[in-house]
Amino acid sequence: MRVILLGPPGAGKGTQAASISTEVGIPHISTGEMFRAALKNGTPLGLEAKKYMDSGELVPDDVVVGMVNERIQQPDCSDGFLLDGFPRTIVQAQKLGETMEETGLKLDLVINLQCSDKTVVARLSGRRVCKSCGAIYHVENMPPKQDGVCDKCGGELYQRDDDKADTILNRLEVYRNSTEALIDYYRQKDLLKDVDANAQREETLKAMLALIKK
Ligand code: AMP
Repeated sequence: MRVILLGPPGAGKGTQAASISTEVGIPHISTGEMFRAALKNGTPLGLEAKKYMDSGELVPDDVVVGMVNERIQQPDCSDGFLLDGFPRTIVQAQKLGETMEETGLKLDLVINLQCSDKTVVARLSGRRVCKSCGAIYHVENMPPKQDGVCDKCGGELYQRDDDKADTILNRLEVYRNSTEALIDYYRQKDLLKDVDANAQREETLKAMLALIKK
């Protein structure tokens, strides 16, 4: 099963993808997480990406496309994958389509998580992420058992720089200008299903799993 999760930042793509990946047994590929890991390791890719991530801008298409092309051809992706945060532009979607065609892979489903701006701002400003394993929490909706400490690995939780108020608004704008067009792009290909992501996390997950297991 090869699935793309679309939706604005804060719609819950990362949180839901982690649950779906465990339930269905396909890898969760988050381009944002790949960049954050590269930055943590001080690689040239991470340092290049940081220039864009800090202000909520998009990393150039060729950088992201190359990274994803390599990742989806790794052995753990042979039964499928769940893409979170990619594609984010029409060019990225076209390049992904070309790679999949060349390698004989088929995209099965694109889930569009629909979410209001109010929900997005509330989710992003309260989001906390584990420095070690990338697990996602929310100070009110999904708090860790111990303040500031990851339940899964004991790592330190932090607030992403791009989850701060002024960057959130820019990320929403970038989403509108560059990414939202993908909804029509995939709808026209008859691959898109909408899911209400303003609902409780469990309810949204149930709706997503129903589509994936269909
Ligand atoms: P995310 O964790 O998906 O919210 O991504 C964090 C940041 O990483 C974004 O704001 C972008 O700067 C960068 N990024 C992640 N995925 C992509 C992508 N597909 N294209 C361009 N930039 C990306």
